[in-house]
Amino acid sequence: MDEPLYLKDPYAKEFDSEVVDVFDGKNVVLRETVFYPQGGGQPGDTGLLAAADGQKFTVTNTRKFGGNALHELEKPGLVPGQKVHGEIDWVRRYLLMRNHTAAHILSGVIHKLHGAMITGNQLGTDKTRIDFSLEDFSKEQMEGFIEEANAVVDAGHEVKAYYLTKEEAANVEEISKLAKGLPPDITNIRVVDIVGFDRQPDGGTHVKNTKEVGHLALLKCENKGASNRRAYFTLPKEAPDTQFNPQKKSDTPRL
Ligand SMILES: [Zn+2]
Repeated sequence: MDEPLYLKDPYAKEFDSEVVDVFDGKNVVLRETVFYPQGGGQPGDTGLLAAADGQKFTVTNTRKFGGNALHELEKPGLVPGQKVHGEIDWVRRYLLMRNHTAAHILSGVIHKLHGAMITGNQLGTDKTRIDFSLEDFSKEQMEGFIEEANAVVDAGHEVKAYYLTKEEAANVEEISKLAKGLPPDITNIRVVDIVGFDRQPDGGTHVKNTKEVGHLALLKCENKGASNRRAYFTLPKEAPDTQFNPQKKSDTPRL
């Protein structure tokens, strides 16, 4: 399977590539990229593309476009065939990765341990939102969910991503329902596994260990109708584990 660089190595920060297509001057498709295209509640990456002639182009957002990632540039100037060096805003992306894994942990707590249906989520750098459906609900109960999530963080579960065939997925409790509902042309499902805690079908980027997430703090809860609940949490800006220091650039070329 031809996996994009941002999934192959979610910790890749820089890469060399080539411009394949340009739309309206400022929307660029690259041969390969570490820029994550917005999807599944995870915002698209921002960063910089540098051409061989030294010209620099700020990437303000990355979106999905067909099977590719579309890099939205601040200004036009790149043309197909040009070689570029790319670098994502790693501080922002790493914070989003930590928020993404945190959202899976909290969803796991709410769904697996308390039987609620998760109905949506939106990841951010300042706050992350989780929507779920639960009959009885109070702020105290939500504080309890956050505490349980923080215990999962502290337990230091390994986080892995891999692909399962539809047949394999049908035997995994958390994803069997989804696997059965997939169209026939989809044969493999990417799974994010918080080992020993929760597995979810997922196309996003995650940290390698729950300890990197840091402790969730509840910001607010809202009731959106009879049993629809919404909660916002935030994470410390600094990751507790310095092993993946966001300021540190990759020492070896990725390509
Ligand atoms: Zn996810």
